Amino acid sequence: MSRKTADAVIVGGGIIGAAVGYHLAKAGFKVALLEKKFPCAGSTGRCIGGIRAQFSHELTIKVMLLSIKLFQNFKEEVGEDIEWYAGGYLFLAFDEERKKSFGEAIEIQRRCGLDVAFVSADECARIVPGLNTEGLIGGAWCPTDGQANPFKVTFGYLKRMRDMGSKVYTETEVVGINIHKGRVVSVVTNKGDEFFAPVVLNAAGPWASEVGRMAGVEVPVAPDRHEALVTEAVERCLDPMLVDYRSDGCYFLQHYGTGHIIGCYTPVPLVPGYRLDSSDEFVTEMPRRMIRLLPKLSSVKVLRQWAGSYEMSPDGNPICGKTSVEGYYVAAGMSGHGFMFGPAIGKLMAELITTGKSTIDLSEFQLDRSFTKSEAMK
Ligand SMILES: Cc1cc2nc3c(=O)[nH]c(=O)nc-3n(C[C@H](O)[C@H](O)[C@H](O)COP(=O)(O)OP(=O)(O)OC[C@H]3O[C@@H](n4cnc5c(N)ncnc54)[C@H](O)[C@@H]3O)c2cc1C
Repeated sequence: MSRKTADAVIVGGGIIGAAVGYHLAKAGFKVALLEKKFPCAGSTGRCIGGIRAQFSHELTIKVMLLSIKLFQNFKEEVGEDIEWYAGGYLFLAFDEERKKSFGEAIEIQRRCGLDVAFVSADECARIVPGLNTEGLIGGAWCPTDGQANPFKVTFGYLKRMRDMGSKVYTETEVVGINIHKGRVVSVVTNKGDEFFAPVVLNAAGPWASEVGRMAGVEVPVAPDRHEALVTEAVERCLDPMLVDYRSDGCYFLQHYGTGHIIGCYTPVPLVPGYRLDSSDEFVTEMPRRMIRLLPKLSSVKVLRQWAGSYEMSPDGNPICGKTSVEGYYVAAGMSGHGFMFGPAIGKLMAELITTGKSTIDLSEFQLDRSFTKSEAMK
């Protein structure tokens, strides 16, 4: 068994581990990031890259306003072109109830300083030429939302982190966490190495609850399966992420650089657990749902389908902060929004770890809260 030391150990090489690792390294920490497979092997490599501040929870909106700034400045700050494109998000309302819930969310979003409005069906068709407006009342439109490439963001952070003297260990699974007198001491890996550090961060995404239990901490994160597909590249025809919340709805965007259409919906009933198989239902239904919204996609061919895990917390909000074990932190339970949260959560968690306080107070996301489900715009 070899013995190693670091200022902080991060468990998980997805967007969250990479973003926190980068910001800790920037603050002068020597970080050891341990990843059981390879960076982006978890949910991050399976996500479709959408980024929005249109939420109905005030803290989430504030976090996302910060994240969007960090995405915008990524090239200057981190040195990687992440294919950021502000094409906006358009949430469609086909009934009065949805319009009302969007209206309520818009009030909160505007209070937080977001440029967002409920626009008519005609305006939706102007934003998305060729949109089928049958039955459409209008949509919640935010032009500053956008998209980026999850691999480029994650690898960009990891590269800079390494440049600053921190280390990434791939194919290295954390199998145990040692605690002494209520304080984290070290983590043990499947290779028999022991990493001693005063700070350990659980950024294990869908596996956060297992990594929590290693430290005797209950982290209520449960994975469930979500499916996605990508079509062949087509001429530019869709600027924003288009979101249809109907029970048979879906959401999709056109990758700005390549022209591929990438989208998701989640077959019902939901498949809980770590299953990552793809379904026949999805690959037949998803194109039908996309074509219903954008008939001009009718001859576009599907290239690939895949599945990935959402890492759900009981209330659909992230779990971020300290735990009952001193030095043991958690940043997980991103509930299907971890890519977009990544840059802000990375910065804020690093502030919390290095100074005891973050510039946006994350205490509403702390592990020790009562989890009650609410909110319309998740
Ligand atoms: C189909 C789909 C579409 C999505 N679309 C979007 C989107 O448009 N926008 C958005 O913001 N989000 C989206 N998401 C959600 C997003 O992908 C996740 O919220 C985000 O990637 C979570 O990042 P993470 O770093 O917490 O977890 P992960 O990326 O899963 O990283 C956790 C890492 O921890 C490692 N690990 C686990 N256990 C151990 C251990 N014991 N030792 C060492 N390493 C360990 C895993 O191998 C993994 O690499 C989507 C997800 C899916 C599935």
